[in-house]
Amino acid sequence: TPSNSPHYLTVLHTNDNHGRFWHNEKGEYGMAARKTLIDRLRSEAQQQGHVVLLLSGGDINTGIPESDLQFAEPDFKGMSLLGYDAMAIGNHEFDNPLAVLDKQQAWANFPLLSANIFHEKDNSHAYQPYTIINKQGLSIAVIGLTTTDTAKIANPEYLGDLVFAEPTKILPSVVESIKATYAVDVVIAVTHMGHYHDANFGINAPGDVTLARTIAPNTIDMIIGGHSQEPVCVDEQGNEDTQFSPGKACKPDQQNGVWIMQAHEWGKYVGKAEFKIENGKKSLLSYELIPVNLKDQNGEYVNEYIQPDQKLVDFLAPYQTYGEQKLKGSVGYVDSYLDGKRSTVRFKQSKLGTLIIKAQMEAVNADFGLISGGGIRHSIEAGDVSYKDILKVHPFKNRITAMNWKGSDLYDYLNTVARFPPDSGAYMQYYGLSFDFIDGKISNVTINNKPLDKNASYRMSINSYNAAGGDGYPNLTSLVGFEPTNATDAQALKDYLQKHSPIKVGLL
Ligand code: ATP
Ligand code: ZN
Repeated sequence: TPSNSPHYLTVLHTNDNHGRFWHNEKGEYGMAARKTLIDRLRSEAQQQGHVVLLLSGGDINTGIPESDLQFAEPDFKGMSLLGYDAMAIGNHEFDNPLAVLDKQQAWANFPLLSANIFHEKDNSHAYQPYTIINKQGLSIAVIGLTTTDTAKIANPEYLGDLVFAEPTKILPSVVESIKATYAVDVVIAVTHMGHYHDANFGINAPGDVTLARTIAPNTIDMIIGGHSQEPVCVDEQGNEDTQFSPGKACKPDQQNGVWIMQAHEWGKYVGKAEFKIENGKKSLLSYELIPVNLKDQNGEYVNEYIQPDQKLVDFLAPYQTYGEQKLKGSVGYVDSYLDGKRSTVRFKQSKLGTLIIKAQMEAVNADFGLISGGGIRHSIEAGDVSYKDILKVHPFKNRITAMNWKGSDLYDYLNTVARFPPDSGAYMQYYGLSFDFIDGKISNVTINNKPLDKNASYRMSINSYNAAGGDGYPNLTSLVGFEPTNATDAQALKDYLQKHSPIKVGLL
């Protein structure tokens, strides 16, 4: 094609897979149905002469035990079979040791991108920053970006010397260096930073809207995002479209000439954007968030049922079966509901927090224990409890550790960790401990109902995440009294339930 005749580009996108390679109990979403849909959209677009890209805004990892216990192997291999061209590295890609992420890159036949993650020692890129895709005479740069919050919320045990630079500072120079080398027609940022309407990012790191507003016009053409896990749809005034529901029309956000798109989460939708590119000008011809077998409140599919791709079902089913086998069966019993909602565990002391901490104390024979509330990721229903239920509470494979304190050092430590406010992941859940917290200072500290003696020694249980400095807790790992173990938090809770069931929640 001569360069002055128009090109057409279809960008398909998803984000925040979080272990959802399989459909849910209601038959919603799942990679096999997604494949049928994507294959159809791709062939329709190609018939119309479009270049087609398939991108992910990251966070493939963590959320479904069947996936988590297989390190998201089915998810990454499934994405490869779906034909993803690239993805952004999300914060949850750091929930496992870095060697696992390397393995995931090997399972994927597409690049995992991030241009703002560097090795501190030599300032080199830790991951591939971008990829250049040439299809049908169109040259497209895809650049990855990862939220700087990763440094705060991911597991510091694994982050090593990785540092997360400000995307707004990095992106212009990356684009400049790309343009110095390649004659690109389109520049796409595939990000895992969150979309916050009107740049109201609150306590989070700045997201896609801030990025689009900060960079010079025409630096990039679009942002394919993730992390905030929302369908990014706006009304005519550009405000959040509160009327959006599955199957309805969706107008993506546009800031400073940059389109910002995000397809909620879990593969619930495939986002589809069609662009016309003519004389360097890009116009959005259409946009859709296409539901993948989502159901309404009456249990009816909101659009025509998408038959899952049989080959992909056959490929994924052994992973699903393996996971189910590992997870089924009761390991204990609780006589009532244990609330693990974030509106509870990040705000006040909870019975589920107590149960978890008692289990961890027992695992290392501690006098008291604590964890950050944000580490509790699910509730437990009354009745029989399976290992799967436990892994939903504890998806991170953290290990239990013990810290042997001198009373006076413990007092200083508690003065720090008691400060984390409600409504933050860091908010402390504790057991075997009590204190008053007035005017930013603790007083009346007791351990096991006895006043803290500054000369006595105390043994504390804590998970490896908080012990390594996760959520801003002081790093304990190089202190003399620190003792790591290999027992995971999930194993400790399972052992405790097996030993002490039935658990009477009222007596916790
Ligand atoms: P995303 O939006 O990317 O899915 P998220 O849901 O983890 O991220 P938040 O809901 O803000 O983001 O939760 C962050 C909190 O989760 C942290 O403050 C911390 O309490 C907890 N957390 C994250 N990673 C771990 C981990 N590896 N171990 C224990 N707790 C963790
Ligand atoms: Zn995320």
